[in-house]
Amino acid sequence: MSKKRILVVDDEPDLELLIRQKFRSDIRKGLLEFDFAGNGMEALEKIEQGGPVDAIFTDINMPMMDGLTLLSKLRERKGVHKAVVVSAYGDMENIRSAMNKGAFDFITKPIDFNDLQATMEKTIREVEVIREGIEAREKLGKTIHEKEIAEVERRQALESKKHEQQFLANMSHEIRTPMNVVIGMTNLLLKNNPEENQLKYLRAIKDSSDNLLVIINDILDLSKIEAGKISMETIPLSIREVMNLVDVALRVKSEEKGLEFKVTVEEKVPDTVLGDPVRLNQVLVNLAGNAIKFTSEGMVTVSCTLESEKDDTCRLRFDVTDTGIGIPEDKVNSVFEKFTQASGDTTRKFGGTGLGLTISKQLVEHHGGTISVTSKYGEGSVFSFVIPYPVATEADKNDLSEKIDPDSLGALSGKKILLVDDNPFNRVVAADTIHAYVKGVQIDEATNGREALDMIIKEPYNLVIMDVQMPEMDGFEATRRIRADLDAPKSQTPVLAMTASVMQEEVDKCLDAGMNAFITKPFNPDDLIRQISKLLLGDPLPDS
Ligand code: ADP
Repeated sequence: MSKKRILVVDDEPDLELLIRQKFRSDIRKGLLEFDFAGNGMEALEKIEQGGPVDAIFTDINMPMMDGLTLLSKLRERKGVHKAVVVSAYGDMENIRSAMNKGAFDFITKPIDFNDLQATMEKTIREVEVIREGIEAREKLGKTIHEKEIAEVERRQALESKKHEQQFLANMSHEIRTPMNVVIGMTNLLLKNNPEENQLKYLRAIKDSSDNLLVIINDILDLSKIEAGKISMETIPLSIREVMNLVDVALRVKSEEKGLEFKVTVEEKVPDTVLGDPVRLNQVLVNLAGNAIKFTSEGMVTVSCTLESEKDDTCRLRFDVTDTGIGIPEDKVNSVFEKFTQASGDTTRKFGGTGLGLTISKQLVEHHGGTISVTSKYGEGSVFSFVIPYPVATEADKNDLSEKIDPDSLGALSGKKILLVDDNPFNRVVAADTIHAYVKGVQIDEATNGREALDMIIKEPYNLVIMDVQMPEMDGFEATRRIRADLDAPKSQTPVLAMTASVMQEEVDKCLDAGMNAFITKPFNPDDLIRQISKLLLGDPLPDS
């Protein structure tokens, strides 16, 4: 691979040293070459003088010429330039302007070097592909070789699609982190005996933020599914329990609209199969939610029947039937497409993003199933899907459903937990949630991996709850050091990762670093407590 030239534009003088230090091995091997500029003006000079630049990282606020102006200037220049902006965490205003001005991506400060490296590799790849395309076109000149061009274009399209998905995933990730604080704090306030009028406001905040989270999760889900990064569980799943949850989740809503709501499971349907209960529930709630949304009178039914059974696999059929507005014939085939709504005024009248059915279709197909719809405009619709599920054996069933046992929580009393997160609000949410469930736990706090390590060296903890992205030393590094540098039993301290990302890669990275389990933010309080009690009561612990 030829040496890649990276231009870093920042008025912070220490950054050069840090980057040279971080990437010293690649620099030494001749794989990377870094150039530094203190402002936009200098950057343009460097681009003019040196060879082609393979990736540009630029700060936004700088003297003489800021990052946004630099982006505009780059757009006017010839040649392939892809710039990534480096911006303060949460500075959405500038990030948005930068993206509008043609920035390729963004990373946030304080810089996480893993993130920097991943983004750098991605940018280099993008530039490479574009240059290959230009080169191919030039080389082929007049005798254009259609096939080769098509191949390059296909690769370009694929790459940019991947980047779009990554960008969406990153954005959703950035938004989920502050949402964790909003939802967490609201839950805590709701538990704190609010006055009547405060209760009203808090419920409104909670409802709106829950709704917002659904939209963010939809976007994240879709980008994950499309990037092939969705992880599906195969665990014992009780069909009747899932159907019951659908009933509980939607009955009130349908009754509020005066609709009859029926959820049925045919007797022949096996009790327990192997699959992903959360995803099945997601598809059913989505379809039934739509049915209720688009029906103003009559009835909505959700039914599960056994279509066929062969060897140890059963094909289960789910039908969601409504007597609602129906879908015009010419639109029926396109409702499963992204961002598609059957009529132009749907968003205004009913809300929604047009992503629900796309996600449902993808999830069903990931289970090896198929989904379809029949509808009569003005009379109603039936959304049906069939999924082949392995029937669970007796041994599988024993693992079914881990409930929180309130008696077991008493055993957590007196345990010492170290909570590591650079965001003070996240620490409050996590600590108060734990205190609300378990009395007598001691929770100490650290703001980054280094501080955590120092604290563990001084005294033992029964459990460490570790954020992943933190300044100075991130959660991965801190965990690796706990495992490698400390003596037993401290080196065995269970670590529960807390991450805003739900990408499979991030999960793998957590486990690779030696973390024992992980939980995603915003977390469900029950899940947090379940994980804590699993780690604290299930594993051998260091004595405090
Ligand atoms: P959203 O509901 O967020 O708009 P979906 O992907 O869930 O997005 O649905 C896409 C479109 O399909 C809806 O906007 C609506 O026009 C149509 N649709 C879905 N379910 C029904 C239904 N049960 N009855 C009538 N139209 C429906």
